Amino acid sequence: MKLDLPNVPASALARRVVKTLRARGHVAWLAGGCVRDLLLGRTPKDYDVATDARPEEVEAAFEKSIPVGKSFGVITVQGEVDGVQVEVATFRHDGPYSDGRHPDSVRFTDAQEDAARRDFTINALYLDPESGEVIDYVNGVQDLKARLVRAVGDPAVRFAEDKLRLLRAIRFACALNFELDDATFAALKRMAPQVVVCSAERIREELHRMLTSPGRSRALRLMQEAGLLNALLPEVAALADRASPGPARNLLARALMTLDALANPSLSLAWSALLADAGEEAAAATLRRLKCSNELASRVRDIVSDVPRLAGLEHLGQAALKRLLRRPHVDEWLELARARSLDQGADPAQVRLALTRLAAFRAQGPQSLWPKLPLSGDDLKALGLPPGPRYRELLSALEDEMLEGRVGTREGALAFVKSRMDA
Ligand code: ATP
Ligand code: MG
Repeated sequence: MKLDLPNVPASALARRVVKTLRARGHVAWLAGGCVRDLLLGRTPKDYDVATDARPEEVEAAFEKSIPVGKSFGVITVQGEVDGVQVEVATFRHDGPYSDGRHPDSVRFTDAQEDAARRDFTINALYLDPESGEVIDYVNGVQDLKARLVRAVGDPAVRFAEDKLRLLRAIRFACALNFELDDATFAALKRMAPQVVVCSAERIREELHRMLTSPGRSRALRLMQEAGLLNALLPEVAALADRASPGPARNLLARALMTLDALANPSLSLAWSALLADAGEEAAAATLRRLKCSNELASRVRDIVSDVPRLAGLEHLGQAALKRLLRRPHVDEWLELARARSLDQGADPAQVRLALTRLAAFRAQGPQSLWPKLPLSGDDLKALGLPPGPRYRELLSALEDEMLEGRVGTREGALAFVKSRMDA
């Protein structure tokens, strides 16, 4: 099997690293995710090299390197180009896992044992970038062809060692659109409740990768089936017991339908779709438990709480409408509403109206939604108004007039303010 590597700086660096290590008498291959992706014709996210060279030997072989995980044999080699790097890992065997997440110790070994400590067969392949030969100790090529995520070795043992693998299994199945091998999925279901030993940060990272992947609703369905949803997102799991007003079977089905209908969702949008019917408190609790940033949490809260504001949009005056449509999360809000309208979570006619009006205002230029006030506090002072809260009220009323299109010039603005001061 001859494979052409993409012509990018990272793959060139990976090739060079392999060559250099070999010239020094070591075994060195591409390993893990990049091999899987190359064999599938996908673009690898990054390149990893596995070698029998010890970390000190790797460091000695390259100009620029960082000992990111030297104790367990991982050195990052940096390329000439800024930011281009390759992780070089010494073949290792992982010792016992007592915390359910990390090995207590590691021992350096050969490629075959290194393959055996990897999580899934499709992630345990090596590739010789010079000959194109694939080195496969675990029947990973067969599983790639059959499109199966299968644990290396006994799945129950592998999940017991590191509980993050429970989520990784589902993430890979969904990102690659693979099935889960039966025995792997059976073990996954049995072990699901133990996923909670993983740190909130790692769980969050896995969930975020699932939520923004094209297989996102399938990932959540698999999590539900496996019991992971109940363990990690009980607020979302509970939606399955509540009826949906629309064609979806229940509120979880509606959330997943909405999630799939979003075009390239941001994280805040994906979470909003999932949590919109869970209630504000439950949504906040979910994101807090996963240690999501305050920025993400408040964005989700704003998007979700604005969904009902779509009703009655046509009765708003122009200034109120514009103020609504210039909120920072307006595009996400309307995209959520559009997606929810498929299951009666929003009125499609109102969504269309809002989108049309927003597009029209934007086409008029920035002044339409954000008029520049031709008056300042100094002008009000010059008119004899003593400084105080009245200033803000007047300027805000003036902004309304401008948003309505009734005032456009400094003269008009002065006339408006004077008339208000007289009144
Ligand atoms: P991607 O980077 O696209 O998410 P990947 O397969 O490269 O996928 P990484 O997390 O970058 O995943 O890990 C690189 C390799 O290290 C994996 O392919 C796998 O062989 C191994 N690996 C990573 N995490 C684990 C783990 N928790 N348990 C066992 N092996 C792992
Ligand atoms: Mg990777």
